Amino acid sequence: MGLQGSGHRPRWACRLASGSATVALRAGLTRFQRQCRAGPGRMVLADSPSGLAADAGGARDWSASDGAALYGLDRWGEPYFGVGARGHVMVQPRGERGGSLDLVELVRELQGRDLSLPLLIRFDDILEDRLERLHGAFERAIAQYGYDGRYQGVFPVKCNQQRHVVEHLVDSGRRWHFGLEAGSKAELLIALSLLDDPQALLICNGYKDRRYIETAILARRLGRQPVVVLEQADEVERIIAASSSLGAAPFIGIRAKLSARSTGRWGSSVGERAKFGLSIPDLLATVERLRQADLLDDLRLLHFHIGSQINDIAVLKDALQEAGQIYAELTRLGAPMGFLDVGGGLGIDYDGSRTATAASTNYSLQNYANDVVATVRECCEPHGIRPPTLVSESGRAIASHFSVLVFDVLGASGRSNALPPPAEGEALILRNLRDTLAAIEAITSTGDPDGGGLDGDATGERPALERLQEAWNDALKFKEDALNAFRLGYLGLPERATAERLTWASCQAIARQLEALPAGTVIPQELQALPAALAGTYYANLSVFRSAPDTWAIDQLFPVLPIHRLDERPTRLGSFADLTCDSDGKIARFIDRGQVKPLLELHEPNAGEPYWIGLFLGGAYQEVMGNLHNLFGSTNAVHIRLAAGGGYHIDHVVRGDTNAEVLQAMEHDPDLLLERLRLASEQAIESGTLAISDARRLMAHLRASLEQTTYLEA
Ligand SMILES: *Cc1c(COP(=O)(O)O)cnc(C)c1O
Repeated sequence: MGLQGSGHRPRWACRLASGSATVALRAGLTRFQRQCRAGPGRMVLADSPSGLAADAGGARDWSASDGAALYGLDRWGEPYFGVGARGHVMVQPRGERGGSLDLVELVRELQGRDLSLPLLIRFDDILEDRLERLHGAFERAIAQYGYDGRYQGVFPVKCNQQRHVVEHLVDSGRRWHFGLEAGSKAELLIALSLLDDPQALLICNGYKDRRYIETAILARRLGRQPVVVLEQADEVERIIAASSSLGAAPFIGIRAKLSARSTGRWGSSVGERAKFGLSIPDLLATVERLRQADLLDDLRLLHFHIGSQINDIAVLKDALQEAGQIYAELTRLGAPMGFLDVGGGLGIDYDGSRTATAASTNYSLQNYANDVVATVRECCEPHGIRPPTLVSESGRAIASHFSVLVFDVLGASGRSNALPPPAEGEALILRNLRDTLAAIEAITSTGDPDGGGLDGDATGERPALERLQEAWNDALKFKEDALNAFRLGYLGLPERATAERLTWASCQAIARQLEALPAGTVIPQELQALPAALAGTYYANLSVFRSAPDTWAIDQLFPVLPIHRLDERPTRLGSFADLTCDSDGKIARFIDRGQVKPLLELHEPNAGEPYWIGLFLGGAYQEVMGNLHNLFGSTNAVHIRLAAGGGYHIDHVVRGDTNAEVLQAMEHDPDLLLERLRLASEQAIESGTLAISDARRLMAHLRASLEQTTYLEA
C-alpha cells in the first residue's frame, strides 16, 4: 500500500505563492511539499491546462520521462545526464557527440571489480567536454563581436587538486594552451611541475612570501609563464627585493578590489573590505613603485575575482566595466599589460531553473562569454587600446559535472505498510481505529450522497474534505486513547503497536485521498502537513562531511536522486541520514526549480535489492573540503573514459582510505593498536573468558578492518 495507490488522480499545476510560472507537477507528492513551503497560509491549486487531459482517462502510468522531469534531470542534466527506457540514469560523457553509458550497469560492473560503494565516478570525457565548451563559447563570442584578441583560460587548482584531474586538464587543454592557477605554495608546486606548456599561463595568486616569489621568478627561466599577481599592498616590496637579488623579474599582475556590488554566498569577495586585492589608491601607489624599481615593463595582467557562483549576470557586467576602465588606465600609465583576468565565478545551474537564485544562474556559458568579450571591447575601443587576451579562472564551471557520487541506502525508517489482521476480541480502541481507517477509505471526493448541499458547494469537495478532517481528528483521538490505555496498563505492547500502525495507515489513506481531490481545492493546513509527516529517513552509506561537505557547511544544493527505478512512481518522501554520529550528517535540502524542498520523492526500498542514489555536479571543491569526521575517509574513486567501439575504459582506480590510513592520520599506529588488543585477548584467554578460536576470530576481524575502507560493506 503506497502513497499513490488510487487509480484516479489528476495532474496538478500549482501556482506558487511567490513565483510567476505555472509549473505542471507530475508528482502528486511534490504538490504537498509546495503547499507546506508556501507557509502557514492556504494555497489554491490551479488546473493545469496542459496536464489534465492526460489523466482524464484514469490511471496514468509512470514512465521514465516522468522520473526525469521529477528530479529535474531534463534541466540540470543536459547534455550529460538523462534517463534510459529502463529507468536508469544514462551518462553521455561526450554530450551530444554520442556514446552513452548506463550508470547502473557501470556501478554493477565496478562493484564486480571489488570497488564498493560509496563510489566516486569521474568521467574524464566530461571534463574534456567542459573545456571544449568553455573555449567554444569564447571563440564564438570573439567572432561575433569582432574582438581583436584571444581567450586563454586557466584552471584554479584549488577547485580539484587530484593528480589525475589536473593531469587530464593539462593534457586535454594543450591545444588551447590552457593553464593553471595556484593559490598556495603546494598548489604552485603542482602547477609548476605538471604545466609543461611554455605558452600556457601559470597564474600565481594567494599570499606570497619571498620563497614563493623567487620560485616563480626562477620558473620563468624554466620556460614557464608564471604571473605573480599582487594581492596585497605590501607584496610589491617583496617582488622588488626578490627581483633585484635574482637579477630577473616575474611577469606581474595586479588584483584589483572592485567596488561593484556582488550577491550570493561569496558576495563579500568584493568591496572595500574584501580579503584580497588592491584598492585604487594602493593600485596607483604600486604602479609608481614598480616604475621606480624599473619593473613596470613586467606588469602584464589585471585580475579581479568577484566570488564563486555568480548567480546574476548583471553583477558580472558591472565588474567587467569597472575592471575594463582600470585596465585602460593602467595602459595609459605606461604598463604594457596584455592580459585581463576576469577570475572565477562562472556559475553552475544546479537546479536547472535558470534563475538568479543560489543554486542557479540567470545566464548560460555563452551569455557569460559574450558579456566578457563585448564589455571589454567596449571599454578598450574609445581609448584606442589593443584588446587584451582574456583570461578566466573558471573552476566550478569546468569541474562540477564530471564526477558523480553513488551511494547505497542501508535502510529506511518509516512506517510498515502491513496491518495486523483484526484479532478475536480486539480492544474497542483498536476497533475504533479500524473503523476510522475504513471510513477514510470509503470517502469519495465527488458525488458524496449526504454532503452535497451542506454549504451550497455544488462539486461536493467541501464535505469530502470536512469528512477527511473529521476522520483524522478521530484517528488522533483514538491514538491518544490507546496511549493512555497503555500507560495505565490496559493495553499491551503489541496492541499499542497495532494502534500506531492503524494511525499511520489512516494518515496514508488521507494523503491518498487528498491527491484525488479536484484541482482548486483549498486544503486545511493540518492535512497539508500529513504527507511530510509520513516521510522517512533513508540511511545512506556515506559521510556528508567527507563527500558533500558544502551541503553541510554552506547549505549548498546538489541534484540528488535514485539512479534507477526512475520508471517507477516514487511513493515516499524522505531525506538522508549519513553514517556519522552527528545530527548534522544529513542531506535534507533538495533542488526544486529555484526553491528548496526539505524532502525528496523516493521509492520504497525493495527487500534484497540495492537502492542506489547519485549525487551529481559535485566535482568542484567537495573532495578537498571533505574531512575525516568520525574517521570516515575518502571513498573509492574511478576514472572512466568512453571506449572507441562502445563500452568504457577504467583509466585509474583510486582506492579509498583504509581504516589503517585514517587512524594514522590521527597519529595512531595500527600495529600498536593491534598489539595491545592481542595482549588483552591473551589475558582474556588466560582468565578463561575468551576461547582461543574466538580470540583468533576477533584478531582476524581487526586486521581485515584495518585494510578495508571506512564504509559499510554490502
Ligand atoms: C576560487 C577562485 C577561483 C575559482 O572560482 P570558481 O567560482 O570555481 O570559478 C578563481 N580565482 C580565484 C582567485 C579564486 O579564489
